[in-house]
Amino acid sequence: MKHRIFDTLRHIVQDVNDASGLIEALNIVVQRTRQEMLVDAVSVYFRDEKTSQLVLMATDGLNQDAIGKIRFRLDEGLIGLVSCQAETLNINDAHTHPNYLYVTETDEIAFHGFLGVPIIQHRHVLGVLVARQKKIRRFSNDDETFLITLAAQLAGAISHAEKAGELTQLLEEVGEKLFNMSGLSGSPGISIGEAYVVFPPANLEAVPDQAIAEDEIEQHIKDFNHAVENVQQEFKELAHKMQGILPSEELALFNVFALMLKSDTLIDVITNRIRAGQWAQGALRETIDDHVRQFNTMEDAYFRERATDIKDLGRRILVNLQNQQITSSDVTTPSVLVGEEIVVSQFSEVPLEYLKGVVSTKGSASSHVAILSNALGVPCVMGVENLPVSRIKGQQILVDGYRGQIFVKPSEHILKEYRRLIRDEEKLDDRLNLLVDEPSETLDGIHIPLHVNTGLLADISPSLKSGAEGVGLYRTEIPFLVRDGFPGEDEQTEIYREILQGFAPRPVTFRTLDIGGDKALPYFPVIEDNPFLGWRGIRIMLDHPEIFLTQIRAIIRANVYENNLRLMLPMISDVSEVDAALELIKQAHKELNNAGEKIPFPTIGVMIEVPSAVYQIAALAKRVDFFSIGTNDLTQYMLAVDRNNKQVAELYDCLHPSVLKTIQEILSSAHRHNKPVSVCGEMAGDPVSALVLIGMGADSLSMSVGSLLKVKWLVRSFTQAQAGQLVEQAMKMEKTSQIRLLFSRAIDDAGLGALIKSIQ
Ligand code: PEP
Ligand code: MG
Repeated sequence: MKHRIFDTLRHIVQDVNDASGLIEALNIVVQRTRQEMLVDAVSVYFRDEKTSQLVLMATDGLNQDAIGKIRFRLDEGLIGLVSCQAETLNINDAHTHPNYLYVTETDEIAFHGFLGVPIIQHRHVLGVLVARQKKIRRFSNDDETFLITLAAQLAGAISHAEKAGELTQLLEEVGEKLFNMSGLSGSPGISIGEAYVVFPPANLEAVPDQAIAEDEIEQHIKDFNHAVENVQQEFKELAHKMQGILPSEELALFNVFALMLKSDTLIDVITNRIRAGQWAQGALRETIDDHVRQFNTMEDAYFRERATDIKDLGRRILVNLQNQQITSSDVTTPSVLVGEEIVVSQFSEVPLEYLKGVVSTKGSASSHVAILSNALGVPCVMGVENLPVSRIKGQQILVDGYRGQIFVKPSEHILKEYRRLIRDEEKLDDRLNLLVDEPSETLDGIHIPLHVNTGLLADISPSLKSGAEGVGLYRTEIPFLVRDGFPGEDEQTEIYREILQGFAPRPVTFRTLDIGGDKALPYFPVIEDNPFLGWRGIRIMLDHPEIFLTQIRAIIRANVYENNLRLMLPMISDVSEVDAALELIKQAHKELNNAGEKIPFPTIGVMIEVPSAVYQIAALAKRVDFFSIGTNDLTQYMLAVDRNNKQVAELYDCLHPSVLKTIQEILSSAHRHNKPVSVCGEMAGDPVSALVLIGMGADSLSMSVGSLLKVKWLVRSFTQAQAGQLVEQAMKMEKTSQIRLLFSRAIDDAGLGALIKSIQ
């Protein structure tokens, strides 16, 4: 047996010596050790002198995403203990050790057996090598020898790397990894601000960490005790009410709760956490989390069920605490709104002048939070899944809305790089501002009206200042999203009137309510397995004519003053939907006319965003006045790629040859029937794709206000013939990447490289 172990060791040592670099050596050690020792995880932590932390550098068995992110203070947890004492630590059940620390990122709760050895060179601890077992396990002397030998070997490799400068570089790289997280671009731009964390009330999991000052501790303990007393009282009342209704074993549950509330483990642990400087809500969350994890690992189903009870208990205490500790939000520094599920109303917690960015762990570019950020010109990154929301309050965050990346506590190096980008952006803005009053005309004299996409009243003035010739898409769902219930007809009329009058005499295209998909109204929930293929847009409206008619009446009434309305129907997949919608529109119009005033009948259009509609253009052209291509949905339906799914986001590309062929088909059939076509998806505001659309002969383009002048510069720098020739070349290409390159090069060659540099 011994012979075999030493043989194996000799081979591993040989391989470590032959490794091409430190990372490879680390990976050999963790992988081979795990195989040989038959353990569930092997990991290596390095001591980072710069940050005084022990950093996870390599692992086999723990989540790879945790590399660089798991960090302990030099004396923290069991890893810290091994490092401090510079001694082997062999524990059959780590959970019972006083230094034990839960780390959420690594599913720590699942591991019991622990064998940690220090990595030492010249009496100096360089790190810790640790083997973990899920079951309780006492490691043998042979196991210890095995790990100690490998740790000694690693020590040599590490100090070699240290001398060669590789170690510092490696630590910096993992350091950047900790602070650099990517998501999806929600709204373009770059900004820096302090994290302002919002979290849904009465949601324990969403409560962030928050340090409190020495003199606040007593107040927090008092608040906490008060909340516990309230909950005890609630239980007493509940038990009383339920007497005779619930069987006695169910009633006993209230006693369990009452006992839990009295138990020292719960109350003392929370109080101790507050004394250590955590605010009451955070201390409650941490402690309840610990208990839930413990209960969840228990074999007995009865005890596992108790995890639910303890969560319930935690939630009840939280509600009481939150009622007492209403946080004020007098933000006076540039801030980035950060949250798991930000709701529109939370935008108001940060005054607009200080709102510099928005970062959400959920959602995508088409979530309403992203749409709002876009409208407000605030950089936004969505779907940053790994963001530890509860731990970043008050930290500096750099938001790169172009690439969909954020940097928490950016290094000086990163900041310098981005400051340069911000300066370039400002220079570009100065240049673009000169174009506000210039016509949007190609070099060969073709006028391509540029419109804005909006859904906010606040957008009127910036849109007009940017020289927009109208509104190509007014997303009427936005006023619906920010309310607690369906707005009434008069309220809607007032909103629509302000928009129509604000933009008059320019045309304003109102899209009828397009809810469903990812845009659920909180007061009209639609829960489906496939929401994008389900009850969406016009489908909901036709099933709820009362909601549709109210909106149509409001829109038509608002148009009496300026008569600059265009009405547009979303999600049309069949002519019968247009027929049904037209019937309702005519009915609303007739009702209003019967009531008195002569009200004009609006110009009506259809959005082409479902592939089936593409091949019904001839039939649709008989019924409506214009078309608008919704490339956001058209791309997702053509490519079978959910526009909200981060997992497949790389496949989502509107320059895919099939999407371009589809757009060409729409344009040629609509033009054959003398109907104008606008493009109002995000594609129209992206300079590279906009050049494609110009070349294809789109009649107008509609985009968020921030893109308008960039696209105007583009329009004014090409002839339509030139763009048309590029399209001809592109249509022969087989790959999206070739097409993107062709148009990017053309833009660069025309001297407009600044338009694409910021988004590469
Ligand atoms: C589209 O689908 O392209 C579009 C403009 O509509 P929305 O993004 O609101 O679905
Ligand atoms: Mg759409």
